[in-house]
Amino acid sequence: MIGLFGGTFDPVHYGHLRSALEVKEIFGLTEIRLIPSARPPHREHPSVSAERRLKMLELAIEDQADLKIDDRELKRIGPSYMVDTLKSIRAEISARPLLLFIGSDAFNQLTTWHEWQALFNYAHIVVLTRPHYEPQSLNDFFMHQLSKDSTELAQNCAGKLYFQPVRQLDISATAIRSMIAEQKNPGFLLPDKVITFIRQHQLYLR
Ligand code: ATP
Repeated sequence: MIGLFGGTFDPVHYGHLRSALEVKEIFGLTEIRLIPSARPPHREHPSVSAERRLKMLELAIEDQADLKIDDRELKRIGPSYMVDTLKSIRAEISARPLLLFIGSDAFNQLTTWHEWQALFNYAHIVVLTRPHYEPQSLNDFFMHQLSKDSTELAQNCAGKLYFQPVRQLDISATAIRSMIAEQKNPGFLLPDKVITFIRQHQLYLR
């Protein structure tokens, strides 16, 4: 099984990295790929260029063989629609289960994503929740895809919706950007190599 973890990573932090590592172990994935988004359609455009966000990701996982980067969204022109990303990955991996991990905040917006129902043609969607999270009322489509048995993810290539509790560190890229703009030290929230890169290039200063 291959796992995907998308994000703007503006900048990448230990919340992202810890969750990616944790789900790799929970689901026994052969691979987990971090997928930086070039032009996320659902939010303000990132303040830092795609090239620099990618560089920060590379620095963050330099010594971590368990995590990989898939930069295909940066090579495409136009908005970074997840459905296109899944389609192109599916074409490369043939009939292996593919798991797309998203946070519960992202799941609450999922029905606004481009061709959101088609996402399930290419991958399972695994929503990472805080322990004891109760999903808000699910629409009929989601109820139909919902699985409460994780073995079903390995038995099918795509099509299931699954909720997985994980330990979530209370870190956000927004908070890190604000700290840097306010000249505070973001140490221990993200890798030192990333902090050094941010300082060298004077990123996130107001
Ligand atoms: P921002 O604060 O700019 O919105 P972010 O920190 O939420 O950024 P994103 O790059 O937007 O980071 O998030 C990518 C994915 O990582 C999303 O699915 C999001 O839910 C998840 N995520 C973000 N922060 C954490 C965290 N602390 N722990 C686990 N998952 C996280």
